[in-house]
Amino acid sequence: MKRLSILGSTGSIGSQTLEVVRGFPERFDVVALSCGSRVELIEEQIREFHPLIASVADEKSALLLQKRLAQAGEKTAIFFGEEGNRLCAAVTEAEMVVAAMVGVKGLDPVVCAIDAGKDIALANKETLVAGGSIVIPKLQANFCKLLPVDSEHSAIWQCLWGQPSGSLDRILLTASGGPFRGFSKEQLQNVTVKEALAHPTWKMGGKITIDSASMMNKGLEVIEAGWLFDIPVDQITVVVHPQSIVHSMVQLRDGSVLAQMGRPNMMLPIQIALAYPLRLDNLSEPFDPFAPECENLHFEKCDTEVFSCLTLAYHAGRIGGSLPAVMNSANEEAVATFLKGTIPFTFIEDSIRACMEAHEREGVVTGFSVGDVYEMDLWARGFVKEFFSKTAKA
Ligand code: MG
Repeated sequence: MKRLSILGSTGSIGSQTLEVVRGFPERFDVVALSCGSRVELIEEQIREFHPLIASVADEKSALLLQKRLAQAGEKTAIFFGEEGNRLCAAVTEAEMVVAAMVGVKGLDPVVCAIDAGKDIALANKETLVAGGSIVIPKLQANFCKLLPVDSEHSAIWQCLWGQPSGSLDRILLTASGGPFRGFSKEQLQNVTVKEALAHPTWKMGGKITIDSASMMNKGLEVIEAGWLFDIPVDQITVVVHPQSIVHSMVQLRDGSVLAQMGRPNMMLPIQIALAYPLRLDNLSEPFDPFAPECENLHFEKCDTEVFSCLTLAYHAGRIGGSLPAVMNSANEEAVATFLKGTIPFTFIEDSIRACMEAHEREGVVTGFSVGDVYEMDLWARGFVKEFFSKTAKA
């Protein structure tokens, strides 16, 4: 029985993690759950999985939830805010923490979990993009495992199982290309929030879906893969593959290329991370090589003239230090603003570029703490807000 703490339990990955737990009740037990504002959903989850503790965003919701649960005879202790997330991350009874929160705010609880000796099933890529230089040495010092949940990284990881160290030559990181594949720069200027949220192959949360439309998701994944597999970003090639059947490939030093394939469904990578090193039964519809989407598996280059978020991410990955953290925070702020419908889609990229250039002029730093990441986060968000208000006036 593996005891889990799930951070971000009401999001897309969190809910699917609970579906995996539901599929293997004899293998997994939920001891902690945390969420943001979806209190009704976490209440249902608590009534079903009976964790020891849970956390919500604010004190008022925590008190109301605690009262309702007590009336129903549930003994789960309810906490709130950043401290609540930390308690869930470090709870003594958990062996593994599933980090499924969205954004750089997931970094602090992940660091707490590693300090408490937990293995991490990582779905939050922003954690490594912003804090890879903090997280990776800490994992090694605490003998903790980091198990990727992102589908591409799960694919790369699986392809490398059993390979002698030093075998990896190049990662071929696949990307669906998102809803705007083939668009020109001009066409991108007029796309709506609704169009950007209509991903052709994957059903995901709002932030990552917009990141997929701008290709920043792939940029974040390049940096994430760099940390996970200890490889320079220039040895990672993005391959646009619209069918999302090949989840990524590795090229070994002898030229052999291994791919991991399957239907686009997050249940499998979640289950693989949770069960590692075991292989459990399939919970989803089985793969069918004769399905229509497998008829023409297609690979192409990403048009970085149009989708320059990817170029920005490679630049950040090459320079390293604080630049990826700043890029990530600028992107989080820009995507949140785009989702409100107040800026054109192309402003996302423009604001990130301006913010990165300003940070580079001030000086990229290395050797920073979690606190420094959150200071840089505030700075980058402020910069992007100002960029939008200036652009609106001009
Ligand atoms: Mg992915």
